[in-house]
Amino acid sequence: MERSIEDIRKKIGSNSAVVMTSQEICELVEKGENISIRDVDVVTTATRAVMSGTYAVLSFPVEAPFHFKRASQVFLNGVPAHVGPCPNESLGMLDLIVFGTAHSHLSPGYGAGHLFREMAEKKTIDVSVITEGNNAFQTQVTLDAIPHAKLFATRHTFKNYAAFVNCSDRPIGTIFHATEFEPDMRAATFSGCGQINPLKNDPMLETIGVGTRILMNGAQGFVIGEGTRSSPARPNLTGFADMHDMDPALMGGFSTSAGPECIVSWAIPIPVVSQSVIDAITMTDKDVPMPVMDVDRRVTIGGTTYADGWRNTDISVEFSPSLCIRCDECAAEKCCPMDAIHYKDNRPVMNMRQCFNCGLCTTTCPGSVFSAELGSIRFEAGGKMHEVPIVLRQSDRKRALELEEKLRQMILDGSFRISQMVDTIRT
Ligand code: SF4
Ligand code: SF4
Repeated sequence: MERSIEDIRKKIGSNSAVVMTSQEICELVEKGENISIRDVDVVTTATRAVMSGTYAVLSFPVEAPFHFKRASQVFLNGVPAHVGPCPNESLGMLDLIVFGTAHSHLSPGYGAGHLFREMAEKKTIDVSVITEGNNAFQTQVTLDAIPHAKLFATRHTFKNYAAFVNCSDRPIGTIFHATEFEPDMRAATFSGCGQINPLKNDPMLETIGVGTRILMNGAQGFVIGEGTRSSPARPNLTGFADMHDMDPALMGGFSTSAGPECIVSWAIPIPVVSQSVIDAITMTDKDVPMPVMDVDRRVTIGGTTYADGWRNTDISVEFSPSLCIRCDECAAEKCCPMDAIHYKDNRPVMNMRQCFNCGLCTTTCPGSVFSAELGSIRFEAGGKMHEVPIVLRQSDRKRALELEEKLRQMILDGSFRISQMVDTIRT
């Protein structure tokens, strides 16, 4: 290590630290500037994406003590929760674990990602309890009445995730597409924020370790360790944060053709402690590998880089309602995985705050009401080059950029303190 995190913390304390976003650094590199360890002290990084490996741990009172002994099933807005592991029901308390991939039995399009966002919005949640004696009762709760509510990651912030194509000759329902995946490699989807992703900026985990302070959905939390299936080539993290402090705009549910999934956002500061850290930070999208996988067989068939997805493309979608040609059925409304488009009184309405900038509406609307350049993936497979248009992004780089800027401001105004790790992580 060429300088310590403690040295950098002292510079932040004396208002002399240079704190930049990873996007700012990459833009300077693209202009040909040479960035050295002397130019920057901390780089903020972020990602926002569909992340299946998510669960919430909740504990809250639902009844007077000794009203019932054990709960056998609990549903929150119809989303099933796992009861336990602590049997606290005789105290009138429910201890629950809710998987981010759980789906409501009342509404097939509603999942735990939607539930977590509504909790953060402080909306009223319907609680349905079936006791071991097969009695049932209902109650309601808001996040303010849930003293313990923490969101955990089992595998988040992949340094480089993947692009997907369907090599089979039939459409496939999958979590990697919001509608059925077109056959014969006619379309591609991808996930990953490329050059601004936290682990791309510290792939050797020199500064990110057990106990590193982070923002998860805007709330301050901590890294726990490596995630499931983490490897040196494709590291990912586990972590947690308190749901009471989360920003609903950074989380939510995302509908796929295999059911709803969970959106999570992370931001991590990278103290620039060594040459190897600056080497990683100055790599741009064209240096970040993006494996290309066949969604049918789940095997890697080729590879490209994140430049295909994020260079010379639009990170947000433009909305021009006057171009609407009034279709019999609004294809854009039907395909939107965020329920951000509504077609009413012969005109489309778009909820920009709800929009994930996935881009799918730009490929389904025949009237060009929605427009964005999404790019294509180019890769070699089976001895020939392929170019497949991207139709859907499962990462929202626009909000991730806003988040890394927010973290930069929090470091500068002292509301976010950079922490020392308590142990290193082995991937
Ligand atoms: S798909 Fe596009 S053009 Fe057709 S009704 Fe919807 S917004 Fe209008
Ligand atoms: S880009 Fe279009 S389809 Fe995607 S979330 Fe936004 S409005 Fe919906």
